[in-house]
Amino acid sequence: MSEQFEMSQRQEELARLLTNAGVGLNWLTPAGEVLWANQTELDRLGYSTHEYIGHYIGEFYQDAHKVQDMLGRLSRGEALRNFDIGVLRKDGVIRDLLINSDSSAHGECGYTQCFTQDVTDQLNAERALRQSEERYRAFIRNSSEGIWRLELDRPINPTWAVDEQIARAYEWAYLAECNDVMARMYGCATAEMLAGARLSDLFVRSDPKNEAFLRAFITSGYELRDAVSHERDFSGQDRYFRNSFVGILENGLLARAWGSQHEITQQRLMETALRESEERFSRFMKHLPGAAWIKDLNGHYVYVNAEAERIFQQRLSDLKGKSDFEVFPSETATEFTRNDSEALHHPTGIQTIEVLHQPDGVHESLVNKFPISDERGTPVLVGGIAIDITEQRRAQSALAESRERLELATRAAKIGTFDWEIATGIVVWDEQEEALFGLTPGSFEGRIENWEMRVHPDDLPTMKERMSQAMEENLPEMRFSFRIRRTDGVWRWIEGAARFVYSTATGDPLRMVGVNIDVTDRREIEIALRDSEERLRLAADAGNVGLWEWNILNDSIVWSDRIYEFHGIGADRFGGSVQDFVALVHSEDRDRVNGALKRALENQEPYHVEFRAVRPNGEVRWLSTSAQVVYEKGRPVRMFGAVLDVTERRDYEERLSRSNEELQEFAFVASHDLREPLRTISIYTDLLLRRTDTASDPDLYRQHIKSGVRRVEELLNDLLAYSRVIHDDDPHETANLQHALDKSLRILEQQITESDGKILSDPLPIVRGHETQLEQVFQNLIGNGLKYRDPKRPPVIQIRATEGPEQVTITVADNGSGFDPKYSEYVFGLFKRLENTIPGTGLGLAICRRILERAGGRIWVESQPGIGSTFIFTLPRAIPSANVMRTDLPD
Ligand code: ADP
Repeated sequence: MSEQFEMSQRQEELARLLTNAGVGLNWLTPAGEVLWANQTELDRLGYSTHEYIGHYIGEFYQDAHKVQDMLGRLSRGEALRNFDIGVLRKDGVIRDLLINSDSSAHGECGYTQCFTQDVTDQLNAERALRQSEERYRAFIRNSSEGIWRLELDRPINPTWAVDEQIARAYEWAYLAECNDVMARMYGCATAEMLAGARLSDLFVRSDPKNEAFLRAFITSGYELRDAVSHERDFSGQDRYFRNSFVGILENGLLARAWGSQHEITQQRLMETALRESEERFSRFMKHLPGAAWIKDLNGHYVYVNAEAERIFQQRLSDLKGKSDFEVFPSETATEFTRNDSEALHHPTGIQTIEVLHQPDGVHESLVNKFPISDERGTPVLVGGIAIDITEQRRAQSALAESRERLELATRAAKIGTFDWEIATGIVVWDEQEEALFGLTPGSFEGRIENWEMRVHPDDLPTMKERMSQAMEENLPEMRFSFRIRRTDGVWRWIEGAARFVYSTATGDPLRMVGVNIDVTDRREIEIALRDSEERLRLAADAGNVGLWEWNILNDSIVWSDRIYEFHGIGADRFGGSVQDFVALVHSEDRDRVNGALKRALENQEPYHVEFRAVRPNGEVRWLSTSAQVVYEKGRPVRMFGAVLDVTERRDYEERLSRSNEELQEFAFVASHDLREPLRTISIYTDLLLRRTDTASDPDLYRQHIKSGVRRVEELLNDLLAYSRVIHDDDPHETANLQHALDKSLRILEQQITESDGKILSDPLPIVRGHETQLEQVFQNLIGNGLKYRDPKRPPVIQIRATEGPEQVTITVADNGSGFDPKYSEYVFGLFKRLENTIPGTGLGLAICRRILERAGGRIWVESQPGIGSTFIFTLPRAIPSANVMRTDLPD
């Protein structure tokens, strides 16, 4: 019971399973009767149970042979494996079944279990697929495109960097499949020959366009249309293909790519060729020295080059598609189009001159216009090339003008031209040349001998010699001068220049062509000038005058010999520039010389300057120079000058002025210093004459008078000696200051007594100087100390001496009235006095200063009003010499 139950339960489960699995099941007897069928089977065929079960299977299964075959197999105990057979459904539709059976069950049970599957749809699909594949194969085979499939050895991960993906593609991709068309593109007969080729074999990896190609494929999500690849075929030729293709992803990885391609190599090459040809064309047009343009048959511009743009003053972009009438004034346009249409009627074109008025002037052009034809020879365009000849035209007329001018000039300048054909001896002269020789036009005989006979016999041999030498040396040209005898018998100087023409083949001289000019007048002037210069030079030499010439433009000075003598140098010691000259001038005079030069050049002042020149041996000479500036076109170009050595004159002048000065001073000194003793004389003379004072002794008066007279005498003598000293300075003279002081005190005796004065003195040394003069110094200083005493106290004058190594310093200090120290320089001036109530001339201190300075010393004063004045003077120490000794010896 339970076994049965289990059994039926299991059968049910099985049936359910089969039903759910969509598998039909029938039981067939060996005769082919349907014993049983499951619901799936029934449902699939649309029969009811009794319409199906119990019936011969051959009623439903279509092919009787197949049914026999099937049943035969089953009866033989063979298993059926996917046995396919058509089955008629109740609705009349035939379905495809696939039958599987297990052989073992058959014998035991008396039937065979057959599992049926409806595979109609599957078969249909397979058929469709097969058809489609066939179609596809046919398409591929017949396609004019190359069809290909690339596979990868290993898939590419889209997340990788693009560069990495490109590198892997080259590494892993190969052509798995393609059609023959494609294969042929690579020079292979069949697809099999090409299949297996690696991407890296086909793609030109070095071409950056291929890299861009792959990059675009990757970045576009593995789909690319009309992308051009650059590849190599089997024979290594470059090939260009236009590709459309798509990548296939499997599990998110790129596994393969399908694509199609067609070859564009030819097109590419043509494009490149065209581009190159266009580039060549535009390069050519750019470098064309003229303007070039192309118009279509409607007169619309198609092309203009840069030069045309310049001349038309229009850009190509503006001109394109426009006619002349839209661009130029109608008159110009009419002329242009007329020429265009004329050119179209001449297969070789026309040449004409076209004029274009533009703001920058009139452009005159030599224009070539020509038709441009297609392959059939029909004109389709009209081209033009123009050369701007405005400049040439201008130059031509300028040339003509200049020729005319030259002719006029040669005629005016009396330049003759000649042309000597050397081989034949024929000489052609123009009218000017004939005129030079005094010949009437056309009367020259025309041979070289006729020239020779007119040349001065002294000059002819040299001329001939020089000419043949020049030709022998193949010189291009020569210059010459010679004398000729004019027809009127007058000898004239001719100068000229000639060019030789040589044979390019042999180098032989062919012609001598040249010009001649009569320079007789100029020569005469030159000779006269030379003579006069010579005379000037002689005169200058005689007068001890040096002459110089300064070429301002190139700063070069030319001296006559005399100037070198003045400077005590040879010609090699003078550089010749202004700077070199100034270097010879005494440094203290250079500014003066430069200044005078500058004023002469800039202000046109007369140039005259006296300066000291220092000779190399240190000797100084006074030179006096004056010069004339020569101007050309308002510009100073040259200076002519003369120099005199005026050293002697300067010496005289100097000595003269010195002695004049001294003379004047001498007069002052004399008049001043004679006054003192004369006063004494006059006082006592008065007293003697009046005789009013009876108590006084006339003898004493007489004695006083006598000593006054004696002092005058003494003074005069000393003055005489003093004047001698001025003119005859002796540096070795010595003076005993003590003697000088003593003498002065004797002279001042009366004044000292009168003023109740006291003179205190150190013993004084011997110094260098003139004693008489120094005695005067003491006399003046002590005299002043007495004269300008303070009335409140008797005068005390202290004289001190200090001896230094070089000099002796003497101070004469009084206790007099003193004066404001601001006058301490003033009082030494001539006639300068601070006081008028006390008699005086204002010369005393001036004389002192002069004497001391002559002796090489100095004097100055320190004074305080109300206290006194101290005069300080210095003198050089005496040089021990015979003179000193003699001074100390008794007479
Ligand atoms: P003079 O005595 O004939 O006037 P000097 O040349 O000797 O001429 O002196 C110039 C002036 O300097 C004097 O007039 C006087 O005013 C002033 N002076 C000269 N020596 C003295 C002195 N020892 N004390 C004050 N004043 C003096």
